[in-house]
This record gives sequence, C-alpha cells and structure tokens, in this order.
Amino acid sequence: MSTTATPAQGTEDIPALVARLRAAFATGRTRPLAWREEQLTRLRALLTENRDAITDALYSDLRKPRPEASAAEVDFPVREIDHTLANLRVWLEPQSLDQAALAGLPAGTTAGTLYEPLGTVLVIAPWNYPVQLSLVPVAGALAAGNAVVLKPSEVAPATSALMARLLPRYLDPEAVAVVEGDVPRTTELLAQRFDHIFYTGNGTVGRIVMRAAAEHLTPVTLELGGKSPVFVDRDTDVTAVAARLADTKFRNSGQTCVAPDYVLTDPATARALESALAEAVEKLFGPDPQSSAAYGRMVNQRHFDRVAALLDSGTTAFGGQTDRDDVYIAPTVLTGVTGDDPVMREEIFGPVLPIVEVADLDEAIAFINDRDKPLALYGFTGNDTTRHRLATETSSGGLGFGLPMAHLRVPELPFGGVGESGMGNYHGPHSLATFSHRRARLDVPLG
Ligand code: NAD
Repeated sequence: MSTTATPAQGTEDIPALVARLRAAFATGRTRPLAWREEQLTRLRALLTENRDAITDALYSDLRKPRPEASAAEVDFPVREIDHTLANLRVWLEPQSLDQAALAGLPAGTTAGTLYEPLGTVLVIAPWNYPVQLSLVPVAGALAAGNAVVLKPSEVAPATSALMARLLPRYLDPEAVAVVEGDVPRTTELLAQRFDHIFYTGNGTVGRIVMRAAAEHLTPVTLELGGKSPVFVDRDTDVTAVAARLADTKFRNSGQTCVAPDYVLTDPATARALESALAEAVEKLFGPDPQSSAAYGRMVNQRHFDRVAALLDSGTTAFGGQTDRDDVYIAPTVLTGVTGDDPVMREEIFGPVLPIVEVADLDEAIAFINDRDKPLALYGFTGNDTTRHRLATETSSGGLGFGLPMAHLRVPELPFGGVGESGMGNYHGPHSLATFSHRRARLDVPLG
C-alpha cells in the first residue's frame, strides 16, 4: 500500500489505508484551524478549477444537463464551503456557561463546552448528486478536523473516478483518501473501525451500515429517502404551483431525494393542476422532452425498469413514454391514484408524479401519518391554519411551504431525515456538530 496520494487499489489494501489515516489523525495534524481552513480552501479550488471535468462526468453518468450540474454539484458545495470558511472560527469558540448555572460550586469556577474532532470518518455517497453528496459531507468532516475516507457510488462511475483522481491532488493525502468500489469493497471498509460513518442512500443499505457500525460502537448519520408528499390547498394559484412542482420534480429525471414524490389535493384542484402541470412541463422541456438538452435520464436500466413498472398505476394524464435503450422516461403525471397502487408503495425516484385525491386537509394529514415519516413535506397554501396544522400534526425531516427543495439551500437549516428517512443532519454549523464531539469542561479553582 502506497502512502502517497494514490487511492487504495485493492480490497486487501483497505485495513492499511484506514490505519494510516488513523495514525495521521493521532499526530494532531488535522486539528489546527489553519489546516481545516486550508483543506476547505483547496476543496473549493478543486470544485471551481474542475467545473468542466465535473459536468462532463455528470453528463456521462446521468446525462445531467450542464447548467443543472454546474449549479447543484459545483456552486452548491462552493456556497456551503464559503459559508463554513466565513463562520468556522466563531462556531469553534468554546461556549461558556453563566455563573448562575454553577451555583453550589466554589467561587471562580468556570464551565462550558467545546467541539473536538471525532477522529477518522467514513463518508459513503450515492449516485444521484454524486459530487454534492460526497463533497459537502467531506467538507463538514474536514471543518471539524477529522481524517476522512470517501467512498463514492460505483453507480456513477465517471464521477467516482474523477473524485478518486482529484481529491488526493488537492487535499492532504495523509488525512484524506478515496476508496472506489462496489459492495465487497464497501463491506471491507465497513469492517474497519471508524469514529463516525456518514451514509447517504437507501434504507436497506442504511441498515447494513448501522449493523456494521454497531460492532465498533461507531455513531452514524443516515441520510435516507422516502416518499415526500406535497399538499396543494384549494385556494392556491395552480399555475404558480405547477411551475414550481415541475421544476423540482422533473429535474435530474426525478432522481432527487427531496423531490416531491406525490401530490395530495382535492378533486377540483387535481383537475386544474393536471393541465397546469402539462403546460409547465412543456415550458421547461418543449413538446418532446427526449430531445431537450434540459432533461436528464435514468441512471441505468435497472432503475429505468423499476420506475417504468410504476407507470401502470392510475390513469396517465400526460407523459408515460419510455425508451429503454435511451434510459428515458418522459415527465409523467398520473391521476386517480390510490394509496394501494404500486406507485404509492415505494419511493418513486423517477419522473413520475401521482396525484392522490383527498376530500380535505384532515384526510391529507391522515394519509401522510399512515405512512413512514418522509424526508420532506411540502405545502402550497395561503392559509395560516393549514400551515400550522401541517407543521404540528405531521412529522418529516424538513418542511417547506411555497418552494419544494429550497430548505436544503439554507446552510443554517439542519438537513436530514427522521424515522425511515434517516437520522442525524448536516449542512453549515450542523455539519460541524455532526462530525465533532461536544466536550464538557469544568474548571474548579483549588484554593
Ligand atoms: P447507491 O446505490 O449509490 O448506494 C449508496 C451507497 O451505498 C453507494 O456508495 C454504494 O456503494 C453503497 N452500497 C450499496 N450496497 C451496499 C452494501 N450492500 N453494503 C454497503 N454499501 C453498499 O444509491 P441509492 O441507495 O440507490 O440512492 C438512492 C436512495 O438514496 C434514495 O432512497 C434516495 O432518496 C436516497 N438519498 C437520500 C439523500 C439524502 O440526502 N437524504 C440524498 C440522495 C439520495
């Protein structure tokens, strides 16, 4: 096993690689603020200096439209890094308790909390936003002063290879490594002792990760998925709603963890929304989305087959066209869908939007609460009581009114799931908290 910038080449190299990173952490090299800021600055440079290579890789893996790739996978992590660089020094300042909290202790006693790095952390990333969902967690782990192993998704091979090539060139190779690979390689990684595992992907693998972590009592963050509902109230402007729904649902061909999964609305609004969505989709992708440069593809034929099989539910309001050789599924809206249809039994993770009709808000809330807690819940309503009821009578990782997916763009908001949609959170100061130990400190004078 080389101790230079080269990534691990074989499964047998993994224990030595992890041991090397642990030894590097133990020297204390990753702790100084200056090291952390330097790594973040270099990670920023990696992103901005390789924008074309990154968007090329994403086009190859997902046919991700270049402006979309540039915004979501370069500008988004850059914004996160800039926010962290601007605030890290303040976030790291020890917090002191008021004297009132120290009643009963000798005069002159002080107490507070400080963040310390955890050690060596493992980041396992998925394929759908393979750069953002690798490098934003890596940035958080570095900001907290940890050594990091990144395992990108083998399902996005061009992007995985690019990150394996670039990270060791920009970041401290003693403390950061990329291990590419599929299940056997990840299984070997998971057998090692880490101080935190940050996993983004599906719940089945989330359980495998958590079981492996239990062997070493390693804490985990699980960023999972689920069916994120959208409630559309009867008083809302359906043209505006449709524009925002279409733009968020059909981007990246629906392969976004926080994309609206399905709509709950009353029958009259459902009719109006159906035609407004058809117009919104045509505005975004023209009359033939397959020939639009702004429309992506399914990541592979396995995911194409899975989503194509969901098209039989309800009635196709528009869309429904598929082309397996081109892994293309048209933006599709299904109506007359019920909670028992196949499309409602799993996270869709594709460009298919079912509309489920409900009589009123009570029925919508009951429908949501009958199912697993979703990663996000969205509402379009002008009614404060409706907003309040959705906020207090349901549960989800995040809650957004008026613009789906926008909550994850605010670094001061914690991003993560609850229940089946995951545990833990990150972004901005929440990443620092996730990748740190909050240590209690008490100083009592002797005299
Ligand atoms: P994926 O297939 O790329 O898997 C994710 C990671 O798990 C990969 O690195 C993969 O190598 C690893 N993996 C796969 N099988 C494994 C095994 N048996 N043992 C150990 N590791 C294994 O991605 P995916 O799971 O298809 O991603 C889609 C899911 O992720 C959806 O459910 C989506 O909602 C969710 N997701 C969540 C977020 C979030 O931020 N909460 C973001 C993106 C995706």
